[in-house]
Amino acid sequence: MAPTALDIQQNVPLAPFTTLRIGGPARFFARVTTESELVEAIAFARERKLPLFVLGGGSNLLVSDAGFDGLVIHIAIDGPIDITVEQDSILYTVPAGVEWNAVVLSSAKQELSGIECLAGIPGSVGGTPVQNVGAYGQEVADTIEEVRAFDLHSGHFVDIPRADCGFGYRRSIFNTTSRGRYIVTAVCFRFNFLKKVQLTYADLKHYFEKKQPAPIEVYRAVREIRRSKGMLIDGDDPDSRSAGSFFKNPTVPRGTLDRIASELNIEPESIPRYPAGEDMVKLPAAWLLERAGFVKGYVLGNVGISSRHTLALINRGEASAADVFALRDTIRAKVKSIFGIELEQEPVQLGG
Ligand SMILES: Cc1cc2nc3c(=O)[nH]c(=O)nc-3n(C[C@H](O)[C@H](O)[C@H](O)COP(=O)(O)OP(=O)(O)OC[C@H]3O[C@@H](n4cnc5c(N)ncnc54)[C@H](O)[C@@H]3O)c2cc1C
Repeated sequence: MAPTALDIQQNVPLAPFTTLRIGGPARFFARVTTESELVEAIAFARERKLPLFVLGGGSNLLVSDAGFDGLVIHIAIDGPIDITVEQDSILYTVPAGVEWNAVVLSSAKQELSGIECLAGIPGSVGGTPVQNVGAYGQEVADTIEEVRAFDLHSGHFVDIPRADCGFGYRRSIFNTTSRGRYIVTAVCFRFNFLKKVQLTYADLKHYFEKKQPAPIEVYRAVREIRRSKGMLIDGDDPDSRSAGSFFKNPTVPRGTLDRIASELNIEPESIPRYPAGEDMVKLPAAWLLERAGFVKGYVLGNVGISSRHTLALINRGEASAADVFALRDTIRAKVKSIFGIELEQEPVQLGG
């Protein structure tokens, strides 16, 4: 092997790098702290024709028991938030390895609105544009100005403006059309000084009643609500040993509601839904699971469903990826047989 200044380890167990605490080893593992180390790691993989996988905080990840026969690049590019003040807004440029919640807290403390509802989402800044993280009525895409990334096709660093990121519900070019092409090294966010907190989510509206809250109050409220649902990572909370919501909310033609209603012998109006474009609706995956008998606290051996959140599949202790696959497949098959709907997995799967 050619000598390299970068410390590249071998056979590194990946489970400790994931919030599910599941997964076999990486054949090679590099923790990169700068853009130049990233370039070095990529060269290492290219020289040996190794497949690459980019790891952030491991909070949206299900690693197979066999692990990964390639190079895992752990993005640990850290540093202070670079702040630029413009006439009506403020720009935050943040290295990809920074913990996401720290950015939310910083902006909320500065009374900037835009990402306060995304408090408590685990993982790194670099992971947020990948699935366009969203919660409680906000999406990170609304505040992203541009994404800096290494383009594995051209071999150069590029700055991708928001308009070119292809953001949608839990999607972007980074997890669809250009999947595996870009490695995010920094994200720039724009906050408008005049933007006031706008609450659209029922839980939060109820929390504040008629009051107009400050961003920091929303930050705290969201964390409190998340904690109550086991959706805040906490070593003492077994319900938080998950990868967040395991299934996406499916988007279906409006007519599907009538079919489901007649099969279940219920009124179509009683089916919860959100508008999702012309003649389409988004159904809460949690409702489908519950109607199919997969309720909070459901147990299947070493895995189960969180006792406080229907969509969080949890590792109850010594679970393997195979255990998670078994529960996932059982749920999917039953939901498909009852509703004719294919549930899509939200966490990224590495191997298996
Ligand atoms: C308890 C809990 C609650 C959650 N709540 C929410 C929620 O409310 N809303 C929501 O949207 N998500 C939620 N998630 C999912 C997860 O936290 C987010 O998707 C997060 O942004 C993932 O970031 P990460 O750094 O952990 O990425 P990882 O899990 O490490 O990686 C996920 C994907 O992103 C890619 N990736 C990561 N970093 C980079 C990078 N720098 N460049 C290129 N690709 C990269 C990886 O290759 C992989 O494909 C939750 C997860 C948990 C465990």
